[in-house]
Amino acid sequence: MANIGRLDKIIDLITAEEIKHDQGTWTSGLNGEVKHGEEGQIDDELKCGTACCIAGWAAVMYAPKGTKFTDYDDVTLPDGIRVSYPSYGRQVLDLTWDEADVLFNGDNDLDEIQEMRNALEDGSFHSRYLGYEDGNEECECCR
Ligand SMILES: [Zn+2]
Repeated sequence: MANIGRLDKIIDLITAEEIKHDQGTWTSGLNGEVKHGEEGQIDDELKCGTACCIAGWAAVMYAPKGTKFTDYDDVTLPDGIRVSYPSYGRQVLDLTWDEADVLFNGDNDLDEIQEMRNALEDGSFHSRYLGYEDGNEECECCR
């Protein structure tokens, strides 16, 4: 089940100041370690010049302290393990691979992301965006 609470925090952030949302890039303006605020928040120094897609913001907002971020493809966790933004964002938001593919698509605008969030909450996501009927064994979230 998707973590709607975390997704809402990300949507709140990118809705408040739309310039920070760039669905076409994992992150930009980040390089190196990010000083975290509290979990689910961002450090003040990120409040200008940083733009990320949903997966990028999920990583920035919820990765553990000491995580290093690049503008390229991945994050490096404090234990040295490197994880791609979509993979890490998927974990943070408890999404299936199919759900993440749809939600992290670079063409999504804010309205579409809000609709997807609602569909994740009300259980209509798999039929609406993935083409699966309720209980289809091929659907990751129904298995
Ligand atoms: Zn399903």
